[in-house]
Amino acid sequence: MSDCLFCRIVSGEIPADIVRQSEHTIAFRDLAPQAPSHVLVVPREHYANLGEFASAEPGVVAALLRETHQVAVNEGIAESGYRVLFNTGPDAGQTVGHVHAHVMGGARLHTLG
Ligand code: AMP
Repeated sequence: MSDCLFCRIVSGEIPADIVRQSEHTIAFRDLAPQAPSHVLVVPREHYANLGEFASAEPGVVAALLRETHQVAVNEGIAESGYRVLFNTGPDAGQTVGHVHAHVMGGARLHTLG
């Protein structure tokens, strides 16, 4: 999808601060971090949102989940704690239509709600 921001990051057309890559995913720092560590993990293939991604091949879904934890390990926040968040749809504030997991930590995070 040539008009998708995260597809363009995956293809290298737009630069990003990439922290990890795997067969099915890439992980890069959020441009506007909401926590000391704030990394986005995205599948290389385009899925518009979590609903679409939930129907992806299970190995790809598992790969993304594993990568979120591996990012936390590499960021040094696996023990102190971290949050994994998918914003899906307008009410959740999803702004980029390529499914992505936010991995956030490095400080006490506010509770939801
Ligand atoms: P969401 O609001 O859940 O769709 O999350 C989109 C996230 O992408 C936001 O936290 C933005 O700060 C982040 N973002 C937007 N553009 C870029 C970019 N070029 N590189 C890294 N992060 C970005």
